[in-house]
Amino acid sequence: MTNRKAELETLRADLKARLSRFEAHQHREDGALDKDFEEQATQTQNDEVVDSLETETREELVQIERALERIDHGLGDECESCGEPIDPRRLQVLPYTTVCVDCAGE
Ligand SMILES: [Zn+2]
Repeated sequence: MTNRKAELETLRADLKARLSRFEAHQHREDGALDKDFEEQATQTQNDEVVDSLETETREELVQIERALERIDHGLGDECESCGEPIDPRRLQVLPYTTVCVDCAGE
């Protein structure tokens, strides 16, 4: 499944680009001490949103790496949990999945 691999590699590049934007946001130096309290409160909320987005993105990346690794080992369309083939239609919708619909409990 060459298409799926290419798709995952594109997705991985996108997620990595997104992560570096999150990191740039978190490591900004903007003299927070000079801001009034209300602005700081808003900023803190933004940071929390970015934090959770960053966590989510990292988890997605791990899943993509895992799927790519299985594809490299020729196991890309095999369920990681029960060993049964994963429905190709499922792989089309969720190219990064490594379990079949039964094991995913969907
Ligand atoms: Zn399964």
